[in-house]
Amino acid sequence: MSSRFCLRAPDRLATTVYDELDVDDLEWDAPSASFSSPCPCGDQFRITLAELLEGEDIARCASCSLVLRVVADADALARFEAAAAEAAAGAG
Ligand SMILES: [Zn+2]
Repeated sequence: MSSRFCLRAPDRLATTVYDELDVDDLEWDAPSASFSSPCPCGDQFRITLAELLEGEDIARCASCSLVLRVVADADALARFEAAAAEAAAGAG
């Protein structure tokens, strides 16, 4: 019987936090239930509502190593959750 410790490198410490924004300052996309914000490289930082609900607060850019820290309180997340449910119900 063997056991191994699974050590995860705190990789978020190695990344550069470009900025910190309130979730209300991000661009909300109801159909995909995700948020985006322009990245200085020309691409966009992205994070999904599901990730935020899981406690993730880092929006990543697909084109560079910068990240954006997202500040979201429970009230704001509840509001967006309702908006996403509404968008899903209204689709089609
Ligand atoms: Zn970028």
